[in-house]
Amino acid sequence: MALIVQKYGGTSVGSVEKIENVAERLIAAKKAGHDVVVAVSAMSGETNRLVEMAQQISAKPDPREYDVLVSTGEQVTIALLGMALKERGYDARSYTGSQVHILTDSSHTKARILDIDESKIRSDLDKGRIVIVAGFQGKDEHGNITTLGRGGSDTTAVALAAALKADECQIYTDVDGVYTTDPRVVPDARRLEKITFEEMLEMASLGSKVLQIRSVEFAGKYNVKLRVLSSFKEGPGTLITYEEDNMEQAAISGIAFNRDEAKLTILGVPDQPGVAHNILGSIGDANIEVDMIIQNVGADGTTDFTFTVHRNDYDSALAILNKTSKELGAREVIGDNTIVKISLVGVGMRSHAGIASQMFKALADEGINIRMISTSEIKISVVVDEKYLELGVRALHSEFGLDEAKD
Ligand code: ASP
Ligand code: MG
Repeated sequence: MALIVQKYGGTSVGSVEKIENVAERLIAAKKAGHDVVVAVSAMSGETNRLVEMAQQISAKPDPREYDVLVSTGEQVTIALLGMALKERGYDARSYTGSQVHILTDSSHTKARILDIDESKIRSDLDKGRIVIVAGFQGKDEHGNITTLGRGGSDTTAVALAAALKADECQIYTDVDGVYTTDPRVVPDARRLEKITFEEMLEMASLGSKVLQIRSVEFAGKYNVKLRVLSSFKEGPGTLITYEEDNMEQAAISGIAFNRDEAKLTILGVPDQPGVAHNILGSIGDANIEVDMIIQNVGADGTTDFTFTVHRNDYDSALAILNKTSKELGAREVIGDNTIVKISLVGVGMRSHAGIASQMFKALADEGINIRMISTSEIKISVVVDEKYLELGVRALHSEFGLDEAKD
């Protein structure tokens, strides 16, 4: 017998009928002899509907009241699921986040879980009940309702699994696992059997939106075995786990990309101490996140400095940089908001040499010009023109042997 935490996302509970399907799945797990705790999202579209109503009242709704509002979506789902289980003769109890003491900090709309009192859940499990917990929400030390950020039900499930020391945390969603890249760009993309926490974090932060990033961080930190599966299609899904030494590792596990990039360059800045700080300090003060940073080797006492930001921040970053440029007496500021980033991700990179040059050659063979390059231990990223995104991802996907085997 195992203790399993399952999570069903919005599309998996998108109608009464689908909620009844979830009930059947929970019953199957119960019949297999497992203890089952389930976290659920709001029915699909519901959280958006609530957010839109709030925005009709205020462009910046009061954060405390916003959380009281948007947390209601999940309460509908837990109640309906509880009814469906009882209708089928199974004992179940539904709880909101605050009822099971999911204690968070007080950062409304993006709270972090600090602690879960699992005693109530345990005593229900001991009585043979299926325990249903509303995802995405908790309460702070003053008893205020908080929410965990969009997609936060994933984090609820992982936190429950960590607190209960569950054998596995299964995230049921509308895709049947984590893919080598986005199948909409590469139809031959393949489902991965396994991926490490580290790789998953890189994939997620680069725009593969299967799981809320925070849930992966949490699972890595507390060593929660995490599995992503489809609630519509049978299959083993993808296991997210620790790297195993004996695992025969392919060099590359996946290709992530991000369309929302922009780059800015300041040319001919004096090459002296404090300049990088001057340039990026004012960008940081405006709460703009910087991703890649490149500074050229100086010549004639000046240097060039390039960095990338999210495309939404391009205009503000450009205005700030123009101001800095005048202050520093730089030559010119140029920018481009039609660029994208493509990254190879894989822990196997550590033990395979020559991946970078293989990547650059594959892109060159397609006539794709690389505008920026950055590397880390398990990732190589390039910036290319937007129009080359699809071509570049496809070329790399086949170059690194990721395409689905054809028979
Ligand atoms: N219902 C929330 C959202 O749509 C939380 C979740 O589904 O994970 O973001
Ligand atoms: Mg979700």
